[in-house]
Amino acid sequence: MRADEAVLAYGGGWLDRAGELRADPERMAALLADPGSVVLPLWRDRCLARADAPVRLTGERVAEALAVADETVFLGMDDGSAVFAADLSGLPEAAAVEVTGASEAVDVRALVGRLGPAEAAAQAYARGLLHWHRQQRFCGACGASTAARGGGHVRSCTRADCGRLLFPRIEPAVIVLVEAPGAPDRCLLARHAGAREGAYSTLAGFVEVGESLEDAVRREMAEEAGVTVTDVRYVGSQAWPFPAGLMVGFRATAASEEVRVDGEELVEARWFTRDELRERAAEGRLGRVDSIDHHLLHRWLAEG
Ligand SMILES: [Zn+2]
Repeated sequence: MRADEAVLAYGGGWLDRAGELRADPERMAALLADPGSVVLPLWRDRCLARADAPVRLTGERVAEALAVADETVFLGMDDGSAVFAADLSGLPEAAAVEVTGASEAVDVRALVGRLGPAEAAAQAYARGLLHWHRQQRFCGACGASTAARGGGHVRSCTRADCGRLLFPRIEPAVIVLVEAPGAPDRCLLARHAGAREGAYSTLAGFVEVGESLEDAVRREMAEEAGVTVTDVRYVGSQAWPFPAGLMVGFRATAASEEVRVDGEELVEARWFTRDELRERAAEGRLGRVDSIDHHLLHRWLAEG
């Protein structure tokens, strides 16, 4: 991992995903029964937590949780121990909390400031993968039920003459720091519909079918802010499995300073100097700390 990538929450490649183990059901079963293995229990996209820390099940608690889990998936190996995630969404919240010895079910994004990066990444990974399983219980081609395979990284249609394979879906979005064409250095931030007064962020949008990432950057900036951009450069990406995102960060330069927001997704957009952004940063008003928006802005600030 490069130093400049380490600041982005929810990724980082902390777990060895050990993809070669997934295809072996006996090995998966043996690892699940291994007393050294760890199971992360989740309930409807939330961590089961106690004292602001997600619960990690080992030993006897594992068997109790697995007996009532809707789905159990293999996340990977952590320093020789297998790590699984179990979905307890079929239980009432109180039962899921009790069987895991937790005290509450809480969104990982609410805990992220208090978790180590490896733990935040594992929880987000578990959340995204288990969410996908709940949404893919039936085959989109024939309507028959599907069943998990490959350690929970694929589902297959159970109808013999169909057998369609379904893989976890990821929905990429571009997020862009647009710079002004001339001096002084400025970048374009926008207020999104529904955001409170004064809450500005970089511009973003989903990649559409048949587009490259760069195509999506140019289209989104033109549609949302009326800005033609050139010199589109990749900066970095962030796993955002809430529920299925991949945020791909770019820098681009506007052809002119003229801005015309669409009035639907964006209600306002304007240029900010570094001094203006530093003021906002000092007040803690410059992006969620776990977001690539924050990363793009702070990286730009550090340049001048
Ligand atoms: Zn099918």
